Amino acid sequence: MAVSIHPAVDGGVKAGNPNFAGGTLTCKCSSNPVTVTLTSNTAFNHVCGCTKCWKPQGALFSQVAVLGRDKVSVTANGNKLKIVDEKAPIQRHACTGCGVHMYGRIENKDHPFYGFDFVHTELSKDSGWSAPEFAAFVSSIIESGFPPARMGEVRARLKELKLEPYDCLSPALMDLIATHAAKAKGTLKS
Ligand SMILES: [Zn+2]
Ligand SMILES: [Zn+2]
Repeated sequence: MAVSIHPAVDGGVKAGNPNFAGGTLTCKCSSNPVTVTLTSNTAFNHVCGCTKCWKPQGALFSQVAVLGRDKVSVTANGNKLKIVDEKAPIQRHACTGCGVHMYGRIENKDHPFYGFDFVHTELSKDSGWSAPEFAAFVSSIIESGFPPARMGEVRARLKELKLEPYDCLSPALMDLIATHAAKAKGTLKS
């Protein structure tokens, strides 16, 4: 049996709908759930192996995407949210009832991804969200306890799912980070 990556992709990656305009994320509390409304589709959706992103029970990877922070609003039971780690570059706002991360926000205006929030669209019943495109921080699953000897199996499965495995972010995102750094240093002018 193929190694399980994340329930949203294990059966094959579902295509997104380019005309999809957003929806609502709901935490897993059976009463008074937190809801977050997103008024656009997401971009750069991917599966992530880092130890910081919220993962559903038993999943090796999280599934996480970005959208503009002005497109994200807490629409119910926001009093249940608490920031997981105030010092982390991405402040993940988690539900204190069920532990789900509802959105991650960057408050440092100098961060290359300032202005973007990180969300898990699997928390939405709506369909049409942008599909995951790659796998980030693949080697980091070892830090969560995955046996290093089985990494070949994981990377092969990711390739089979057309989720190109990277041990950092994708080349497009790494280029964005480097461009931001070069502009800040003045080595890149435009
Ligand atoms: Zn909850
Ligand atoms: Zn992550």
